[in-house]
Amino acid sequence: MSEDKTIITDEQNQPDDYEKVCYVCRRPEGKAGKMITIPGNICICNDCMQKAFDQVNNGGFPHMNFPGGSISIATPEDLASFGFGMPPQPKKVKKKKENPQPALDLKQVPPPHKIHAQLSEYVVGQERAKKIISVAVYNHYKRIANRDQEVEIEKSNMLMIGPTGSGKTYLVKTLARLLNVPLAIADATSLTEAGYIGDDIESVVSKLLAAADNDVERAETGIIFIDEIDKLARKKETNHRDVNGESVQQGLLKLLEGAEVEVPVGASSKNAMVPMTTVNTKNILFICGGAFPDLEDVIRTRLTKTSGIGFNAPLKDRFDEDGSLLRYVEMEDLRSFGMIPEFLGRLPMVYTLDPLNKEMLVKVLKEPKNAILKQYQKLLAMDEVELTFTDDAYEAIAEQALKKNTGARALRAVIDDFMLDIMYEIPKDDNIGKVVITREYIEHTGGPLIQLRGQELPLLQG
Ligand code: ADP
Repeated sequence: MSEDKTIITDEQNQPDDYEKVCYVCRRPEGKAGKMITIPGNICICNDCMQKAFDQVNNGGFPHMNFPGGSISIATPEDLASFGFGMPPQPKKVKKKKENPQPALDLKQVPPPHKIHAQLSEYVVGQERAKKIISVAVYNHYKRIANRDQEVEIEKSNMLMIGPTGSGKTYLVKTLARLLNVPLAIADATSLTEAGYIGDDIESVVSKLLAAADNDVERAETGIIFIDEIDKLARKKETNHRDVNGESVQQGLLKLLEGAEVEVPVGASSKNAMVPMTTVNTKNILFICGGAFPDLEDVIRTRLTKTSGIGFNAPLKDRFDEDGSLLRYVEMEDLRSFGMIPEFLGRLPMVYTLDPLNKEMLVKVLKEPKNAILKQYQKLLAMDEVELTFTDDAYEAIAEQALKKNTGARALRAVIDDFMLDIMYEIPKDDNIGKVVITREYIEHTGGPLIQLRGQELPLLQG
């Protein structure tokens, strides 16, 4: 085959900022070396090109008719007929810079007390968790900035234990937003080992890459939150070997520690059509969260055992009355619960969130910057109607939410329920200037108080 007839590099149309991806082996240019581009904007790496030549010389491509023995006119469709699939989008993978600068400037990461203060604008209570997170996150980004090879700072991956609706996801979301880093939230129950139905473990990294707009460098300093991690606990019944949960814990080990993973770009699953890129998880902060139901029983049993011996004895009674035993959790309890030691070893920061009581729920209603009630107030203010709540009404909402046993999550359902009629009826009457929500209205024993425009008290029962 003569040199002049063969496939020809054609680098035009390729924006400089993006890495080409070999459409046969799907390795990016950074890994596979310089690419050859053939018409149709198809990039092929030297290795694959050589293999293609070898195959042609050995009588391969039996159905292909190459005029003049050249494969220069191979179209994407021709190649597809060999099972190569259609060409990937070569523009998706961002090129790694020649001299990489740290993606994150430590000066831009606020110190712990500022992180804490900013978290507090949104998240009510959970003071200890907020403090631990603030310090751990600050240290995490210091660790990334640390260029000292001698003292390597350990990764501060976290395990957050707290009942449903106590703010675990909300804390992480708020944190990622204020640090301006990409965040991926995955549910541990959807993860399976490769080969099983479900998302494979590395899909969490694909999600992060997507959240970083496919910018590998940004993704590499992002946060991955894996919720419902307690569902991966080894089951207690010995006759039933729990393959999935435990093996997903095993599978997560290398991600938590730091590994290079090949992930599809711009898609959630790997297939022949999708280009791949490599993401290093070394600097990704992993936060795992779970409600760990029944963990309190494990803790209580341990504490009761130890307090039985001598001087600890009075503690036993105290623990029995203590409503929030979770805060006494130790690694040993989590192991008894069914988490494997290697997995726990990679989550050095373990902390708990308190269940939200009535007072905290009232604060959730009133205080956060984007509290749901404030959002409703804003909506009605746009109709020039003032919306207020009596103290009793706040309490009634919190009481109803508490009954549902889903923490602050229940507030939304309670509020949306009684606000529906208000949002429907009030705009009907232009004369209404103020609405006061009362306990009676929440409990369906009376209406809201209504005040007409230009009218001072008394308010009318709506
Ligand atoms: P989970 O602990 O189950 O992950 P979430 O964080 O998803 O719970 O909480 C559900 C919603 O409840 C959040 O979107 C947020 O609006 C509210 N919420 C929960 N906990 C708090 C809190 N401590 N402070 C303010 N809002 C909260």
